[in-house]
Amino acid sequence: MLSHHLNVTIYEKGKTIGRKYLVAGKGGFNLAHELDHDSLYKKYTPQEFLKNAIQNFGVQELRNWYQTIGIETFVGSSGRIFPKEGISPANVLRTIKARLKDQSVEISTQHEFVGFNKEQKPIIRNAEKEFVPSADYYLFSLGGGSWKVTGANSDWLNHFEAIGVSIQPFQASNCGLNISWPTGISNFHTGKPLKNITICHSGQSIKGEAVISSYGLEGNAIYPVSAWARESLQKQISSTISIDFKPQLTEAAIYEKIKSVKPKNFSKALKLDAQTSSIIKHFTTKEQFLNQGEFAKAIKKIEIPIDSLRPIEEAISTVGGIGIDNLNADFSIKKHPHLFCIGEMVNWDAPTGGFLLQGCFSMGAWAAKELAGNKKAD
Ligand SMILES: Cc1cc2nc3c(=O)[nH]c(=O)nc-3n(C[C@H](O)[C@H](O)[C@H](O)COP(=O)(O)OP(=O)(O)OC[C@H]3O[C@@H](n4cnc5c(N)ncnc54)[C@H](O)[C@@H]3O)c2cc1C
Repeated sequence: MLSHHLNVTIYEKGKTIGRKYLVAGKGGFNLAHELDHDSLYKKYTPQEFLKNAIQNFGVQELRNWYQTIGIETFVGSSGRIFPKEGISPANVLRTIKARLKDQSVEISTQHEFVGFNKEQKPIIRNAEKEFVPSADYYLFSLGGGSWKVTGANSDWLNHFEAIGVSIQPFQASNCGLNISWPTGISNFHTGKPLKNITICHSGQSIKGEAVISSYGLEGNAIYPVSAWARESLQKQISSTISIDFKPQLTEAAIYEKIKSVKPKNFSKALKLDAQTSSIIKHFTTKEQFLNQGEFAKAIKKIEIPIDSLRPIEEAISTVGGIGIDNLNADFSIKKHPHLFCIGEMVNWDAPTGGFLLQGCFSMGAWAAKELAGNKKAD
């Protein structure tokens, strides 16, 4: 889009671009999420921040763009959008790079942004020298604060602070929860899933799957909880998740199934897997575990205290970075309108499920539209 009107050079400090794209592909490459524009922008925090960007370039526009470059997509049963079977993340990345080349975008790898000069223009360093690329506008998408191996290392935060842009330290979002499991759970059930559960926290609930790990819980039903838990943990208020192991059944229906069953057969009667039975056993008293009514109650609500969030390095995404108050509606910096910031380096948040990449693409398309349209006439 941009290169129809403007000459574009990408400076990347690593040997290749898009490395986070490749790790994102390892656990199921979720490109976007099937939602209309108005439902989609509400998935982002703060809610209004990405409204223009999403309304300009939402799910259908992103899927159309992928199709234009030769990447067919499909909507999975959960509404998540993936590349069609047989198209690997590496294929997608190769195709995007080919598209950039076709559009005459230059890619200079092993070129690192190392600060700003007196005119607030970026200084780039490569193996031979430092220089300031000559350009009318500079668009940054330097990434968040997790998975440093992919290049996003947040070293740039103080460069922006030095030119008067307020920043917030990065914190983990979409990450696992540390829980002090009794050894009976960590020793015997690490790696096992808890399927079709509902997790509640802070009056909000999320359906999905969690996986037991040695440190606690992770998985798609857990990641959104990290955003809700972050606040209470920061305020040192104790934070607890409650799990409903049978969201499709009422407590009365569960009771009905076990009311005339001996306690040792409750789990069998309810078709509970070993890990679910074990969690219920460890988080109830002996009396509750052996009583039909109390057992039915526990299936619907087991409360588990959260010790803390997993370290930032492991998080799928982060919050923090460039505070949104610094930015104009087109993602240029108010104090320095020749500089734009997009993607995870800006302080917004979204759950997993394709919303992160969608947010980055929508921001890029919106900034590009502004640059290619309004700004070129400057
Ligand atoms: C394990 C994992 C799985 C994920 N799965 C999904 C998923 O399925 N769906 C989804 O929507 N999202 C997923 N995400 C999140 C998604 O990948 C990120 O939100 C997205 O890649 C952020 O894009 P970005 O362009 O802002 O930053 P990045 O993709 O991190 O890119 C930033 C780039 O800037 C470069 N850079 C940094 N500093 C400098 C500098 N000083 N000079 C020059 N270059 C620099 C980095 O080397 C890097 O190449 C996943 C993330 C992880 C870690």
